[in-house]
Amino acid sequence: MNFHIMTLFPDMIHDVLGTSIIGRAAQKGILHIQAWNIRDYAFNKHSSVDDYPYGGGAGMLMQAEPVYQTYRAILDTCRMKEKSPRVVYLSPQGKTFNQKMAEEFSKEEELILLCGHYEGIDERVLEEIVTDYVSAGDYVLTGGELPAMMMVDAIARLVPGVLHNDVSAEFESFQDNLLEYPQYSRPEVWHGRQVPPILLSGHHANVEKWRREQSVIRTAKFRPDLLTGADLTLEEERLAACLREGEIGP
Ligand code: SAM
Repeated sequence: MNFHIMTLFPDMIHDVLGTSIIGRAAQKGILHIQAWNIRDYAFNKHSSVDDYPYGGGAGMLMQAEPVYQTYRAILDTCRMKEKSPRVVYLSPQGKTFNQKMAEEFSKEEELILLCGHYEGIDERVLEEIVTDYVSAGDYVLTGGELPAMMMVDAIARLVPGVLHNDVSAEFESFQDNLLEYPQYSRPEVWHGRQVPPILLSGHHANVEKWRREQSVIRTAKFRPDLLTGADLTLEEERLAACLREGEIGP
């Protein structure tokens, strides 16, 4: 999968996404991540890419043309000519990013992520090139780089071959609208806290049963809003209802 990140700060992208699992996948050629410096497409001799907003107001705005020229340059490198890639503008005004969106985006061959800075970007180029508006959450950041990297990380780990073991991306929080069960590693006792004995029993079916129950308990406790979309048995629904009503402790 090819990620193209349009930014005024390409070093931020290289430093973060060049490390660990995502960096290794890029080295192996499973992913291709390119940060495109919008400043390289500035059309004046000072390489400035921002200007005052019409109508007044605080701050500067990224101008339309350098963003558009960066986009055109990216299109020239895309293999698929018949279909334009999706262009995601990272914006606090967008739809909040979630696992379902990560799954959907991971099916794309090419993805362009546009990072704003200052007070944002001239609306006209957004209207012309953007297909999706995505937010990191209901707060305002100084730039779109962190949310873009967050998106790349969440999407890339779903691309086959990026994680060592394909299974490790399968049973995780948000699948089936449930959070993941608690996990433990060695030693069996740490600071007087024992690993739940069922996990040491070697009884696979009972371990799975315990994990599923713990997922329901966790979700009811931390994210009860998710449970409306979860496929629960009658027994699990009763358990969740008891937890909501505070009948069962943590
Ligand atoms: N004036 C804009 C507004 O009120 O909607 C906010 C601009 S913000 C200071 C600068 C840039 O940071 C935005 O263009 C966007 O790319 C990015 N940004 C800020 N908060 C974000 C968030 N919650 N999610 C995604 N991107 C964000």
